Parts: sequence; C-alpha cells; structure tokens
Amino acid sequence: MNPISGGRTLVREDIEQIIRKYALQNAVKYGGKAQVEPVVGKIFYEHPDLKEKMKEIAELVKRVVREVNELPESRQRETLGKIWPESLVAKRKIEEKVFPPLPNVEKYECVHTRFCPNPDGALHLGSIRAAILCDEYTKMYKGRLTLRFDDSDPRVKPPIPEAYDWIREDLRWLNVVWHDEVCQSDRMEVYYGYAEDILKMGLAYVCTCKPEDFRVMVNANKSCPCRGLSPEENLERWDRMLNGSYGEGEAVVRIKTDLEHPNPAVRDWPALRIVDTRKYAHPRSGDKYRVWPLFAFCCGIDDHDLKISHVIRGKEHLTSMARQLYLYKYFGWRYPDFIHYGRLKLTGSVLSKSKIRVGIKSGLFSGWNDPRLGTIIALRRRGFIPETIRDIILDIGPKPVDITLSWKNICSYNRKNLDTVANRYFVVVNPIVLTVRGVKKPFVSEPPLHPGYPEGGHRLLRVQPERSRVKILLSRSDLETLKSRKLVRLMGLFNVSINEIKRKGILAEFHSEPYVTAKELSMPLFHWLPERGNLKVKVIMPSAEVVEGLGEKDLMNEDVGGIVQMERFGFGRVDSKVDDEIFIYYAHR
Ligand SMILES: [Zn+2]
Repeated sequence: MNPISGGRTLVREDIEQIIRKYALQNAVKYGGKAQVEPVVGKIFYEHPDLKEKMKEIAELVKRVVREVNELPESRQRETLGKIWPESLVAKRKIEEKVFPPLPNVEKYECVHTRFCPNPDGALHLGSIRAAILCDEYTKMYKGRLTLRFDDSDPRVKPPIPEAYDWIREDLRWLNVVWHDEVCQSDRMEVYYGYAEDILKMGLAYVCTCKPEDFRVMVNANKSCPCRGLSPEENLERWDRMLNGSYGEGEAVVRIKTDLEHPNPAVRDWPALRIVDTRKYAHPRSGDKYRVWPLFAFCCGIDDHDLKISHVIRGKEHLTSMARQLYLYKYFGWRYPDFIHYGRLKLTGSVLSKSKIRVGIKSGLFSGWNDPRLGTIIALRRRGFIPETIRDIILDIGPKPVDITLSWKNICSYNRKNLDTVANRYFVVVNPIVLTVRGVKKPFVSEPPLHPGYPEGGHRLLRVQPERSRVKILLSRSDLETLKSRKLVRLMGLFNVSINEIKRKGILAEFHSEPYVTAKELSMPLFHWLPERGNLKVKVIMPSAEVVEGLGEKDLMNEDVGGIVQMERFGFGRVDSKVDDEIFIYYAHR
C-alpha cells in the first residue's frame, strides 16, 4: 500500500481507477480519443491534494490515456458504463426531458428504427439528422437501430463503392450505434417475390405506355390500357422484364391506387423499372439484375420485413408514405409509427450530393472532404467534433417546422465545445519584424497550453537580445492597430513603446515587463514569435485558400488530428506534419 494522499487515503490503484474513469469519459466525449491535458486538469480539480505528486500523476495519466485510446469506442463506452454508469445516465436524463416521446411504443415488443443512407456520396449535416435522431430514440428506449444502405438505384444515384465505409466511419465517429446492417442490393430476390405476389393478386400491372402518355392519362384521372390486363398477361410481361425482352424505359410495374387520389404522383405509382446494368453496372452486383425497385416500393417492403416499429424521417417522404399505404393495405400489413420532421436548411454551404459530385469531377472541389463542403468528413477535417454535431441536431430535435441553420450557429456550438479543450499556440500570418531596443536581459516566456489547466503543461518561447536588441515577428494584420497605438503588450513577454513604422519593419523601445502595467495602461495584446526557430505553418481556410505563416516550435508536439487554438486567429485541426512544416485546417474564429 502506498498512500499518496492525505485525508481519505487514496492508494495507487484507486488513483489509477479515477484516472481511467476520466480518461474513458473524455474518450467517449471526443470520438474515442482521450487527451492527456483535460484528464490531468480534471484530476487536480477534483483532487487538489494530488498536486503534491504532480509528476507521478502526469505519468500515470499518460499511460492510462494511451491504454484507453487503444480500446475500440464501443469497449470504451461499455467499460465506462460498468465502472461509472452515472456518467452516461446523467446526460441521457436531460435529453429525455427535451425529446418528445415516440408514439405507440407500448404496441411493440421493442422500438426498432432504421437509418437509410444512399451510399452515392458522403453523409452531410442534413442527412446525418435522421441517424442521430434514430440513435437517440434507440438509446432512449433501449431498442434496435438498423443501418440500411438504400443502394437500389444504379442509374440515377449510382452507389460509390467506398461510400459504404465512409458512412460507417462517420456514424462511428458520431457515436451512432447500430445493431445490424442491410443492403437493398442484397434483397433483390425478395422484392421480385413481392412484385410477383402483387401482380398475381391483380393489384399491380406492367405498364408499357410511354411515360409522357401515361402522365397525360393519369393527370386526367384515366387508366392506361395496361391497367385492364389479367394477372396472367401481367406475369408474362413481368417475365419479359426480367429476361431482357424489354429495354430500359419500355416497361414498369405500377401499383394500382385510387386514380382520383389528390396527389397525381401517388396515382398508380411505379414500383419497379428496368436499368441497363451492362451500361450502369451496380458496384456490388454488376449486371446481375436488370429490374430495380423504386424507392417507395423497396423501402416499404423493408420496413415491414425488418419489423421496423418507428420511422423517423423528413417530411419530404410524405408522398412515399401515401404510396406505401396502398402496398400495406394490399398485403394486410400494419404501417409503422412515424415522425416526420421539417427541412433543415443550411446557409452558405454546399450539401447537394449531385452538386458535390459534379464539382469533384470538374476539379472545383478537391474531394468529399473539401473544406467548403458541409459533409461530415469535411467538418471533421476542419476540427468540428462529434459532440458539436450531436448537440446541434439534438437541440433542433424532430420538430415538424422547417429550420434554417447558419454557419455562424454551427461555429458557435463548436467554439463552445473546443474552448475548454484545445491547446493554444501562437501562429503569425504574413510576418513583419518588430525590432525592440533596450532589452537588457534574455526572456523566457512559458505560457500554459491551456490557461484553464495550467497543470497540463506549457510552451516555451525564448528571446535573446544582441546588443540590447531583439527581433520579434508579428502578424501583418496587426499593423493597422500598431499605427494607432503607442504602447502594446507582447503576450506573456513584455510591453513595448512603438517608435517608428516603416515599410520593412517596426522600431520599438522596451517599456516594462509586468502584465499589470499593460492592463493599467489598456495596451492591446499581440501574439508574437521569436525571429528564429519557428515552424512553417500552412492554414487551409474554409474557402480552400491557403494562408502561410510561422508557428511556435511546440506546435510540432500536437498529434495529427489534434485540435488547436491559434491565438487571436482561430481554431483548427492539425492535418499533417512534414519535417518543419505543419498543415492546419481552419475551423473558425
Ligand atoms: Zn400503360
């Protein structure tokens, strides 16, 4: 036994368990990766007496964080739930309060929801809403969530082979937990079976009319000639659809509905059509199938077959529902309960998958993670964290009204989350030289990595005068302020008096050292760098413009993926490091 704390004696095992708890909590909060500094900060905040053993504790934290980060996210969550269940429960309770309950839960053995992305692109802020809402409800009712890839349109929305994994990765990152996976492209025989059944029942027919002719008839509430065919004749046509006798666009299976239905799009809607898969091969099944189900048909069947209890989706799916209700009536099925939420509009960001696809092809965007896009991978790359995205979606909730979200909103959510965790550094953009005279001694500045957790470590900046002069680098954007202010403070260093501003640089005189003097004289604070020993920094802005500058050398200690705050400039994520150069994707101010 090694008591290292006064009062209630904490043995090393106790301390390690406490550290593990905080590390797991931090990992669960930030997408599976705990960081040392916030854990250290939390330990000393909760157990100030442990500060006596600061070095030992810091070492211990490093080791435990490393161990925790090696666990898959699901294990982290599970372990945290075991050793500290209240940390997970507390948050859930708050969310339950603000979330409207699902309808008719008591009618089902288990709440079963589904998230159905089309893998024809990456997930974005709009499409992720259904995933987070379903996940939240699933967790709330201890139900099941099925991830269903709606990949049944090789013609208009062809799936991208890599997108299946992009989607899984984004969901894991967002802490969305799903229990099973289904691909529509694996269920073709199932759809064929139901198509045949409904043709036999005489409640569907194979229509060979030209689409424009059909539209004229149906808009006039008239039936097309194919509607009166017998089931035998329809099955014969169905065979010809399957065996290739009809070409693309020459035949379609239609579900019989009320021809007086107020919405013309519902009247005798198309359920299956022909796609020339020799030309438009499906990435998973190639040209094996040439008859493909349309959205309302396969989704309606899947929801029933998979025993989905609650469908949570946007109200743009209301037409689909009106179509599916016929299918459910004919098969004698019970329609799932549903929540239809309003549209989520985002100002100032490209969300449309087809626009993104065209932009990538033409070279306008560098990829699905181009910083100008609202895709989840793009946001991730810029330093948005999963908590931010979940917070936004959960705050909006499943309301039926339309919501407009601006980038300003999103950034302020993220800023709030990052402010307490991101390490701070000086990055000087377009440097200008400030020469300070009258510096009598060397200075060592040791600003903390984060002012809220001074125990979490510090950076080191040295200034060594030569013949009482030092050269300091400032951001060119501070030039305007310098022109109007006589006295300024270099953060964490000393105060100077500005003498002369020239095109090539600025001349100043050492004024004083204490921060209080700067405060008393209301000097503006500038971040700065020593003249030598800095890193080259390239910051990729949200506009994709690259801003070049210099950064303090300690920035190299940040891991790729680490989120930093460049003081007086903004937050960003370390994207890569090469030799003495570091690339940062800019998030926001
Ligand atoms: Zn017809």
